[in-house]
Amino acid sequence: MPRPIHATIHTGALRHNLAQMRAAAPGARVWAIVKANAYGHGIERAFEGLRGADGFALLDLAEAQRVRDLGWRGPILLLEGVFEPRDLELCSRLNLWHAVHGDEQIDWLATHKTHQPHRVFLKLNSGMNRLGFAPERFRSAYARLQALPQVDEISLMTHFSDADGPKGIGAQWAVFQRATDGLAGERSLCNSAAALRHAQDAAVRGDWVRPGIAVYGSSPDFPEHDAAHWGLQPSMTLASKLIAVNALPAGASTGYGSIFTAEAPMRIGVVACGYADGYPRHAPTGTPVLVDGVRTRTLGRVSMDMIVVDLTPVPQAAPGSEVTLWGRAGSGAVLPIDEVAHAAGTVGYELMCALAPRVPVSVE
Ligand code: PLP
Repeated sequence: MPRPIHATIHTGALRHNLAQMRAAAPGARVWAIVKANAYGHGIERAFEGLRGADGFALLDLAEAQRVRDLGWRGPILLLEGVFEPRDLELCSRLNLWHAVHGDEQIDWLATHKTHQPHRVFLKLNSGMNRLGFAPERFRSAYARLQALPQVDEISLMTHFSDADGPKGIGAQWAVFQRATDGLAGERSLCNSAAALRHAQDAAVRGDWVRPGIAVYGSSPDFPEHDAAHWGLQPSMTLASKLIAVNALPAGASTGYGSIFTAEAPMRIGVVACGYADGYPRHAPTGTPVLVDGVRTRTLGRVSMDMIVVDLTPVPQAAPGSEVTLWGRAGSGAVLPIDEVAHAAGTVGYELMCALAPRVPVSVE
């Protein structure tokens, strides 16, 4: 018998979430963001659910090659552009579009002997202060690219730092408008949060939106709005089983550090899932979990291979009972990954990406 932990990728949910993002940004084309191995889902496993996208945006040539190997002939965008000059050769061969965020990337293009001209997405630093040209340097970078025979189309992009927060996109949007005013080229600005919150405005949604987390059924602005509020469905379930059921007497503790002590006699269950499976070690006592589809809580410290849960609300639970760490239970009950992440002081993004290679995954 294999250890009972298992993840499931829900193709229908990916398809549904993609449709939600199309509806949020009517008329715009949609990049499905599949960097970080499709946010931990696996590019190959997520592909069927996401093939209705207009393009795939990702991080490096290896991921791009994997998408091409799946038979995708449409647009692929390297979100951070190339990392060294020789990458340009493979960009040409795989027909990749690439971001240009710095002078050296333009230098590399200028000396590249290319077979076919490149389509680039010139990136503006509108306030994230990570990658991209400063507003006062944007036009000169644009002019440099325009003068290169290696470049045949320039699109304009930026990335919002606070689309999911109280600051919003206003200041960055104003910077983008000023810096790009009068420049020809398609526009791409919105990540999930910006697309959901602001893409009804045609100017903000531009020509391409770039949703990642929402496509994977997680809310970009939890806890203000949960995934259900945005009409999103979980695309990943992490499930396991109880491998032991024990009585914990009053005054007894469970797990490393003895950080949870029973106040009254209680039944506890031991789940075959730990931080080596990708479950967050920092999840405190009280992190939500479903046993037989019934909501209960974790107790004590998360171990490498085990979690202990409170069986008080599930008196019928026994070894072999289904445990849903996040996603969809057999009963249809849903435990949003965002709730688990929030309890653990992190975000759904991190939990998805951290799913460990030792967890078997199937696609349904
Ligand atoms: N666009 C860029 C440039 C990104 O780096 C990312 C992810 O970090 C996204 C879009 C997608 O963001 P989200 O997953 O929040 O939708």
